[in-house]
Amino acid sequence: MELIYPSRCYCCQIGLTRRGQVICADCLSKVHYLQSPLCSCCGREFPDSSGGDHLCGFCLRQLPVYDRARSVVRYEDPVSHLLHRLKYAADTSTLPVLTQVIEPFVHDLAQEFQSANDRIVPVPLFPARVKKRGLNQSLLLARIFFPKAGDALLVDSMIRTRDTPPQTTLDGDARRKNLRAAFAVRNPDAIQGRRIFLVDDVLTTGTTVTECGRALLSAGAVEVYVLTVARVTG
Ligand SMILES: [Zn+2]
Ligand SMILES: [Zn+2]
Repeated sequence: MELIYPSRCYCCQIGLTRRGQVICADCLSKVHYLQSPLCSCCGREFPDSSGGDHLCGFCLRQLPVYDRARSVVRYEDPVSHLLHRLKYAADTSTLPVLTQVIEPFVHDLAQEFQSANDRIVPVPLFPARVKKRGLNQSLLLARIFFPKAGDALLVDSMIRTRDTPPQTTLDGDARRKNLRAAFAVRNPDAIQGRRIFLVDDVLTTGTTVTECGRALLSAGAVEVYVLTVARVTG
């Protein structure tokens, strides 16, 4: 029973009172959810909290390859810690916590998702890296974002064709070079004419989703909507 209904908060170990809770109200209150006004394209938060969504200076200068990006929360503790545990320690005990954090967003997303036209593509890892890590965090997160995805979740339509150093070890220009042509669509028929929800854990500079977006669009995707759990601000 402890496993299904843990009695302590995953983050601070305080005793939990509500069934089905995995993170306490206090820790959850530290999570910063991204809220409008956001950049209507890349999802960047505006520091001034008045007015509606509009294009940010970066997108005004040059529109991203993808159509829209949205993230649920800022990349800060406790979520950054949870994502790090999932990614580098294959700690799947973080999944129920992340599910609870993402829950409000998942509801809105379900309204938008049309299974006939929409497909979901997790950012792929290089096969050897999946083997080493034991999981692809983006795939697990895609299942949380779209619990009813069924066949619309394309598990291996897009592949990583080269193993590349983790982006976190590189800066802007090196990131772009590192990932150029690192992604390919294996079966364009599944992508052609579809709107694609591209799922990743964190949006940092956007290089990864830009390169994936390029591959998806050249395979015939009509729209690429990027979804990440967290976003690095700045
Ligand atoms: Zn707590
Ligand atoms: Zn923008």
